[in-house]
Amino acid sequence: MSYQLNDKLASLVPYQPISGEYKIRLDANESYLNLADVFAERFANVVANLDFNRYPDPYAVKLCKIFAERYSLSPDFITASNGSDEIIGVIVASFLKKGETMLTLAPDFSMYGFYGEMYECKVETLNKEDDLTINADTVLQTLKNTKARLFIFSNPCNPTSLGLSREDVLKIIQGTDALVVVDEAYMDFWDQSILNTASEYDNVIVLKTCSKAMGAAAIRLGFAIANKTLTNAMSAAKSPYNVNALTQAVGEVILSDKTLLQRQVKDILNSKNALQASLCAMAKEKSDIIKVYNSCTNFIFIKMVDAKSVYAALLKKSIAVRCMGQYLRITAGSDEENKELLKELNHILQ
Ligand SMILES: *Cc1c(COP(=O)(O)O)cnc(C)c1O
Repeated sequence: MSYQLNDKLASLVPYQPISGEYKIRLDANESYLNLADVFAERFANVVANLDFNRYPDPYAVKLCKIFAERYSLSPDFITASNGSDEIIGVIVASFLKKGETMLTLAPDFSMYGFYGEMYECKVETLNKEDDLTINADTVLQTLKNTKARLFIFSNPCNPTSLGLSREDVLKIIQGTDALVVVDEAYMDFWDQSILNTASEYDNVIVLKTCSKAMGAAAIRLGFAIANKTLTNAMSAAKSPYNVNALTQAVGEVILSDKTLLQRQVKDILNSKNALQASLCAMAKEKSDIIKVYNSCTNFIFIKMVDAKSVYAALLKKSIAVRCMGQYLRITAGSDEENKELLKELNHILQ
């Protein structure tokens, strides 16, 4: 006798971020600014004063209140989560019943489909247009055809770096009975958020994360914003103490800084814009680059003749970027990191 994994697990492989030590990490869309430089003392202080023997606040009330203030929202519409990854799983597991259909786009963030499969939903995937944009009418038609109960997508998109206008997002929301989950992980870098109107709809959840513009990927903290009914449903469906006390305490310190986000976004966008301009200039001289997409995020998406070998050549120089089929996705780094990347790319590319 031997134990057999079921077939949905047997074919799964653990998520594998790039492993190994690399001098320059531009592969995971993190902020290149380290918050410890600003907050070390305050972090030490709140951690030293924690009740380590007690469970954390199950609803992270204080943290949600501070997040709500930061984005001018009502705290009633906010659910905190252990990274947005966790709440994506909770939403798929609880708002869909087994066998019901969810619609995703391709290319888009791979975790959506992952949770769909895991929770035994039917995952339908609509390919984006040839230029990697999203057509709102096509999405609406596909929602109708597939009878999808849930539509989830990132805006702006990881990995394409492109955004869908607020007008088009609202058109989709208003044109369907499906639950629309808008993952605004990168929206701090762009200006087409629907955050301030999300709670007015009965079929919208907006996701935010502290992992990108906020520069706090280490603490695993995300938020879902939705009307009271959906917020209550998420609170009931999530595990009780999902956001640990260390994260709540440190998150409160970070989100209490009224201008942090603004400062970080300004620096990161300066880096991104400079990198984008340099890569566009390089594309004019190097036939290895097919297209540099116009980024609404903190990373650049590039179509290459042979992305895989460029990726491997960069790794040899201890520079990690992300390779996705015929594309490279490169996170904007510090000035020195960008300079080093451009220097090596200049050597590698024809
Ligand atoms: C990085 C990212 C997230 C953030 O996930 P966390 O679990 O909060 O770190 C969510 N959605 C997209 C599209 C991302 O790229």
